Amino acid sequence: MNVAYIGAGSNIPPRATFLTEAIEALDSHRQITVTKISSIYETLPVGYTDQDKFLNMAVEINTTLSPRELLEYCLAIEAGKGRKRDVRWGPRTLDLDILLYNQENIKTEQLIVPHPRMHERAFVLIPLQDLNPAVNIPTQNKSVTEILGELPTTEKKGVTKWLGTNGEEG
Ligand code: ATP
Ligand code: CA
Ligand code: CA
Repeated sequence: MNVAYIGAGSNIPPRATFLTEAIEALDSHRQITVTKISSIYETLPVGYTDQDKFLNMAVEINTTLSPRELLEYCLAIEAGKGRKRDVRWGPRTLDLDILLYNQENIKTEQLIVPHPRMHERAFVLIPLQDLNPAVNIPTQNKSVTEILGELPTTEKKGVTKWLGTNGEEG
């Protein structure tokens, strides 16, 4: 059995619905069990900043899928939610990234694990810390909590716990 961590994000409504349906879709695969779910965070866009705020979260899964099979399943879930790829880092209904797969270092044309930009992204590290603060990021050889401690405060300020909306669209 393999342990993997997946980061999820959305900035096109209904954001929270896209996230919860993505987790349900992961868990519905007979070779995947979702074992932990982080809080949901609202985050300011980074990279391409002229777009709406994101909701981000992460999940821990147990799976017998290979990394490649897991990626394909994640991409299929995104496609099912109408994911388009126009602007790099632009608006999206759903983004599912494989953050970690055991402690493996994978580098193929389709898949790089650990996710190559995760260690500089508060919106990835903060939800991941909810799941497993001590988990090692093999490319950095540091724990999530250690890396977060070294990240600039300004980055972390852009990530706040999402308290939901009162009947509004997430
Ligand atoms: P970023 O990778 O910086 O978070 P993004 O998520 O917006 O950007 P996408 O357009 O969703 O990028 O993904 C482009 C491709 O990245 C995917 O089709 C996939 O083949 C590849 N990829 C490489 N490593 C990973 C990974 N660890 N998780 C998900 N996709 C990955
Ligand atoms: Ca991403
Ligand atoms: Ca992605």
